[in-house]
Amino acid sequence: MAKEIKKIAVFTSGGDSPGMNAGIRSVVRACAYLKIECVGIYRGYQGMIEGDFAPMDARSVNNIINKGGTILKSARCEEFRTAEGRKKAHDQLVNAGIDAFVVIGGNGSFTGALLFNEEYNFPVMGMPGTIDNDILGTTYTIGFDTAINTVVEAIDKIRDTASSHNRLFFVEVMGRDVGHIALNSGVGAGAEEILIPEQNLGLERLLESLKRSKKSGKSSSIVIVAEGDKTGKNVFELKEYVEEHLPIYDVRVSVLGHMQRGGNPTCFDRVLASRMGVKAVESLLEGKSNYMVGIRDNNLILTPIAEAIKAHTDIDEELIRVSDIMTT
Ligand code: ATP
Repeated sequence: MAKEIKKIAVFTSGGDSPGMNAGIRSVVRACAYLKIECVGIYRGYQGMIEGDFAPMDARSVNNIINKGGTILKSARCEEFRTAEGRKKAHDQLVNAGIDAFVVIGGNGSFTGALLFNEEYNFPVMGMPGTIDNDILGTTYTIGFDTAINTVVEAIDKIRDTASSHNRLFFVEVMGRDVGHIALNSGVGAGAEEILIPEQNLGLERLLESLKRSKKSGKSSSIVIVAEGDKTGKNVFELKEYVEEHLPIYDVRVSVLGHMQRGGNPTCFDRVLASRMGVKAVESLLEGKSNYMVGIRDNNLILTPIAEAIKAHTDIDEELIRVSDIMTT
């Protein structure tokens, strides 16, 4: 029979995302409500190995639902990739009387949790916290909505200056492997072209589109470029390429960078994280383990972590079509 769960740990791991604090708060408060002890682990798996733990009660998470980042800090930890590192982590958890953990993070963090469970039969539950929205088993990850709103706000501002000077802007957004941020924020901000890792439309199409745009009398043009786009050129090289082939354009570049990870989470992300945290704790207490909490059709669902880490989510083809139509 599985051991009764009396103490649950929560931590954030990998790249941070807005809404992680709301997720921590939810796990802590759900534990308090259900009279389960809760422990926060600082700096992800690194803190687990070092025993960097702090008891958390309902009042430890006051006034954090609105804050970006993570009060528990996040880290990447090479040592946890080794069996010795995971053994140290297990010893620390056992010493602290911790019976299960909830990890808020991305694919890498879940892979670590899965291995840990396999080795020690330790109950684990995942909550998807990443701005990339690339995790199978959920329509939305915690932080994605905030990130696309941050990007749209930034592009709106860039658009103001772009149209004042009739300029073309290449705006680089996050997304090495997936183009969800680029596609969604591009449609939301009315970008002329969106270059994503999932598609290589070729540089010819970009030039044609920009020529058309100029002819049709547009006063400004915004091209969103995901970090991992497939043109083979970065934003600065794209600027040079377009200036060389279409000298009518005055081109500027803006790399949004880490601002996309920060900021107060949107209401959507706060609600999502609150719902997922409760589901994670309740599922552990029901004896479930090795799942990631996700959302589909506004219902919370559980997906085996082994499934969730298999691949990235596919790009939304319908949204690509809408984007094409909108740039006519
Ligand atoms: P992001 O969305 O930012 O990529 P992530 O959770 O995927 O988030 P990673 O850096 O890939 O971020 O992983 C976070 C941590 O999880 C790693 O630093 C490591 O400690 C642990 N981890 C990742 N992959 C493995 C693995 N194969 N085995 C054991 N632990 C792992």
